[in-house]
Amino acid sequence: MERIALFPGSFDPFTAGHESIVRRALPLFDKIIIGIGINDDKKDYFPLNHRKKWIEELFKDDEKVEIKTYSGLTVDYCDEVRAKFILRGLRTSADFEFERAIAQTNKMMDKKIETVFLLTLPEHSFITSSTVREVYKNGGDISNLIPKGISLDL
Ligand code: ADP
Repeated sequence: MERIALFPGSFDPFTAGHESIVRRALPLFDKIIIGIGINDDKKDYFPLNHRKKWIEELFKDDEKVEIKTYSGLTVDYCDEVRAKFILRGLRTSADFEFERAIAQTNKMMDKKIETVFLLTLPEHSFITSSTVREVYKNGGDISNLIPKGISLDL
């Protein structure tokens, strides 16, 4: 049985923190699906096709990583792609409280699925997609905040 994990998120944009979580989780799973969630209530900044393209470029040599988009419940999408694990990153105690509610709700909906948390590396613990967007919008240097070799220019 293949160990498949879904790493769900908005990834608006995908940051160095997200990349690190995926790379550190690779030895744990046979496959990691990065699922960009399409959420009608959330206003995206970077277009979905760009977000997807940047992540595809980043993992083009990693056969164990797939990039998909999905809408609807994360647990339903896990069933669709046969993922038994949801991968999430934790930066702060605020993340923990937020993630705990989501993970326990998901567990209530689907007992087969385990959420696996990796603690962020200290050097990534302050990085959030929303601050990256703010720095980018205002012309600041985001090169240390996003994965190396990716340019966010649209
Ligand atoms: P969402 O909209 O679901 O919160 P995000 O794209 O913001 O999606 O984040 C996806 C996952 O990555 C979440 O588990 C989040 O806690 C984690 N994450 C975000 N930034 C970092 C970081 N700098 N280091 C580690 N994990 C992170």
